Amino acid sequence: MSNSTNGAFGDQKIFDHMQKFGHKKLVFCSDNDIGLQLVIAIHSTALGPATGGLRMWPYKNKSEAVLDALRLSRGMTYKYAAAGVNLGGGKAVIIGDAKTDKSEALFRSVGRMIDQQGGDYITGADVGITLDDLELIYTETDHVVTLPEHAGGAGYISPATALGSIEAMRSCVNRVWGGTELKGYRVALQGLGKVGMEAVKMLVDEGAEVIVCDVDEEKVESAVSRFGVRSVATDAIYDQEVDIFAPYALGAVINDETIPRLKAKVVAGSANNILAEDRHGEELDQRGITYAVDFVANSGGTILDTDRYRKGGFQRERAMNSVRGIHGRMEEIFSICDQQKVTAQRAAEVMAERRIREMEKVSLLSRPLTVHY
Ligand code: NAD
Repeated sequence: MSNSTNGAFGDQKIFDHMQKFGHKKLVFCSDNDIGLQLVIAIHSTALGPATGGLRMWPYKNKSEAVLDALRLSRGMTYKYAAAGVNLGGGKAVIIGDAKTDKSEALFRSVGRMIDQQGGDYITGADVGITLDDLELIYTETDHVVTLPEHAGGAGYISPATALGSIEAMRSCVNRVWGGTELKGYRVALQGLGKVGMEAVKMLVDEGAEVIVCDVDEEKVESAVSRFGVRSVATDAIYDQEVDIFAPYALGAVINDETIPRLKAKVVAGSANNILAEDRHGEELDQRGITYAVDFVANSGGTILDTDRYRKGGFQRERAMNSVRGIHGRMEEIFSICDQQKVTAQRAAEVMAERRIREMEKVSLLSRPLTVHY
């Protein structure tokens, strides 16, 4: 990678970034015959092997791909640590178009390259990657976490993500109004995809009053007819007279433009990177709005997915109990908020950092002693 042009993310900047955020390893893999360019980023192995999904995306340039891999791998360290999962943070990205550039050879080559990392990195699904792609990778390496059920994996994880997000919502409701039942609360839910549709079902089953939106009219019609919910135009979702705003679609939906429009006292959903910037977490606090930190609220699928690495192999019931534990983790976050007077986002980071620090002590103890003369 050259130290190149236009302020690109060149060699020195890569090292500066790795040093600043504590990344351990960055691996560049290339297979010319197949046209594969793969970047593997390992942020931390303090809690276990660095694990995180593989993303396939037509990055504009290599700098963008590297930065994405580094940023996402660090996010995984925090996500696992906060979720109570004993894995470290990693991520891999393929520079390519998921619609046109996929082949069996490409994924088998990815598998071999991951295998060469000797278990330091375990891969999974992210944008552009399907369970079929992961099965191809699995033919070359055991280091794949996300697999279909017939291959020993957890299969379809979105219902677990939905359940975790509802548990996070419950703890926010408890913080604001007391009590954990969602019955009677009014929820504006944005995005009726794999997770959002499950969440609507859970909310309606529990007696919440749900207003939905999606850019896809078919999904809106399906939710209205299946669950008897009311729908509004996508842009109107922020203005609803509700108790809870539930983002299940895009990131950055809590921003300068949307915050003043919210009537809700709780923001809780499954979307990633809900806050456009960290300061929007402070803004929510100032307005008395309780926020279910995204990487905790949406960790249910991850908890289910990674259960196969726990003692005894995959046990769905045990995993679902851990998913329900998101409720308790959110409560812990709120108590850190109160003690340290920080935002929920920062408190979740504090909770994750605490756990990583503790576990780093354990690995120090298990290292052979070095004698200094
Ligand atoms: P999905 O792609 O199945 O669904 C997203 C839905 O949002 C789609 O129906 C889409 O039409 C809709 N949408 C897009 N733009 C919109 C807009 N402006 N207004 C309203 N709706 C809009 O995705 P998903 O798997 O259901 O995930 C939802 C969110 O949760 C994403 O942010 C994802 O990153 C996050 N997440 C998902 C999982 C999981 O297990 N699937 C795990 C962790 C986080």
